Amino acid sequence: MAAEKMAVTRETFDEVIVPVYAPAQCVPVKGKGSRLWDQQGNEYIDFAGGIAVTALGHCHPALVAALHAQSEALWHVSNVFTNEPALRLATRLTQATFADRVFFANSGAEANEAAFKLARYYASNIHSPYKSKIIAFHHGFHGRTLFTVSVGGQPKYSDGFGPKPADIVHVPFNDLDAVRAVMDDHTCAVVVEPIQGEGGVTPATPAFMQGLRALCDAHQALLVVDEVQSGMGRTGKLFAHEHYGIQPDILTTAKALGGGFPVSAMLTTHAIAQVMAPGTHGTTYGGNPLACAVAEAALDLINTPEVLQGVSARHHQFVEALQAINARFGLFSEIRGMGLLIGAELTPAWAGKARDLLNAATAERLMILNAGPNVLRLAPSLVITPQEIAEGMARLETAIGKLVAA
Ligand SMILES: *Cc1c(COP(=O)(O)O)cnc(C)c1O
Repeated sequence: MAAEKMAVTRETFDEVIVPVYAPAQCVPVKGKGSRLWDQQGNEYIDFAGGIAVTALGHCHPALVAALHAQSEALWHVSNVFTNEPALRLATRLTQATFADRVFFANSGAEANEAAFKLARYYASNIHSPYKSKIIAFHHGFHGRTLFTVSVGGQPKYSDGFGPKPADIVHVPFNDLDAVRAVMDDHTCAVVVEPIQGEGGVTPATPAFMQGLRALCDAHQALLVVDEVQSGMGRTGKLFAHEHYGIQPDILTTAKALGGGFPVSAMLTTHAIAQVMAPGTHGTTYGGNPLACAVAEAALDLINTPEVLQGVSARHHQFVEALQAINARFGLFSEIRGMGLLIGAELTPAWAGKARDLLNAATAERLMILNAGPNVLRLAPSLVITPQEIAEGMARLETAIGKLVAA
């Protein structure tokens, strides 16, 4: 028999974890669909989705079955060997997208790290070692490795960790003239999120995305589209760039790819991938059989008309409920986003209070997110039920009502 498990609480966090997070006071222990339970047995409705990760809800039976079956077959072989789940998932991803080559990693940051390295390596090999400039955007977010925080457009995440990688230029998002002003033949890549997630849930305009594509073509630069948050059905298409009628050269996906199991992928074309050779890049766990088996099950479920088309009806239900709350309390200056990545910007009177809203919601047994200090963010399961949306929104209204009265 297994030994009794050690008792741990939220206080244990402060004693043993490096203090880079400030988690809520409750400790979730169980999840099912869009509901979670904490150590005390309190039930929560989940509008956070593990930050756009649990796109099929918690412990989806098909994902549990895939993980269980693979856990009894093979866990890990490293990239000294290939494995069937990785080959199947890569085949599925290439069939479903513009891409024909896949590199697997374990997190969004690692997929982006691979993407940025590939863009530099491609330019250096095909054009010139001096074609190294990366153009990226203010408020962009691409992960927490040193290269990815440096390409990210929030200096607070990279300051103090220098020297930073060089030849990275940041310009305002959705400002094509600003890109044009810094774009040249020395540029190897433009890196963009179709919807800035962490930066405040701001969708790119069609003219901006199409303009970036044209500028990249004119200067033989690669368009790197970071779909770590916006991908895997989040916006009602498998990938958000499909709304814009453009194709990336390199795409990264993570978060919802494994539905809660850590896995990420960088997708690209054969023409670009072929500059790489054995040894130019790698990772021990990339293509792990457990991760790929779960991701294949997730992709099979998400990439269906039922799930993708269901996103838009849910979007409208969320937005209408937010508008109703706003009609009562007037705390949002704008409600925006695409599909089930929804942001509500706080009015100046509420500036800086997104985290207070989050805490108030948790007290009403509702999990939500913020995107910076001024934006409330929702990234629920793509298959959350209309009843769960209604119930969660009622809890949000109660939470806001108490905050207003306090
Ligand atoms: C979350 C996120 C990342 C980083 O992913 P990790 O898995 O945390 O490394 C990168 N890009 C975008 C757009 C993200 O939302």
